[in-house]
Amino acid sequence: MGKRYYCDYCDKSFPDNIQNRKKHMSGVQHERQVKTHYFAFKDPEEILEEELKKRPCRILHQNGYCSFHPVCRFSHLTPQWEQELRKKISLKYQRQEAAVQAQTTPKVEVNPTLEGWMAKQASDQRQNSSTNSDQAHSSHTNTAPTNLFKMPAEICERTDLPPSVIPPSLDALVRAETLDWG
Ligand SMILES: [Zn+2]
Ligand SMILES: [Zn+2]
Repeated sequence: MGKRYYCDYCDKSFPDNIQNRKKHMSGVQHERQVKTHYFAFKDPEEILEEELKKRPCRILHQNGYCSFHPVCRFSHLTPQWEQELRKKISLKYQRQEAAVQAQTTPKVEVNPTLEGWMAKQASDQRQNSSTNSDQAHSSHTNTAPTNLFKMPAEICERTDLPPSVIPPSLDALVRAETLDWG
């Protein structure tokens, strides 16, 4: 038994040789299967435009069914299908708009600089002190940087932590003796 050619579009196989392949690829059935396959990836705007240009399919109207659906030479557009397509089109434009907005307002700074970071820290501190007007006159230590590390709550609650994991208190740091390493 020789090799067989399998056509993915038609879910069919036949003895593989050039004549058979040519005959299959030029067949109406195969062409319809390929068109139907790519129809799923077609732009809804393009589909609507093409359907509106075609003349209505008489077979579909007479029988309520046409075997060429959805790639018939004649239009299969129904009010429901048109509504569906228009919905898809407006969704597409909404997504495009959202993508453009996401590009124009980046959340992450592309090239962060130390100057930029310091400016941001300064403006954050100003915001902090302006919200607590009664603390505005107190010393700098009250306006803590906004991105200080904080222990996760679920770790703080635990009582069985080894000493190396528990963050030192400020008091302990002040009292700590300077160790000589080496
Ligand atoms: Zn085929
Ligand atoms: Zn038709």
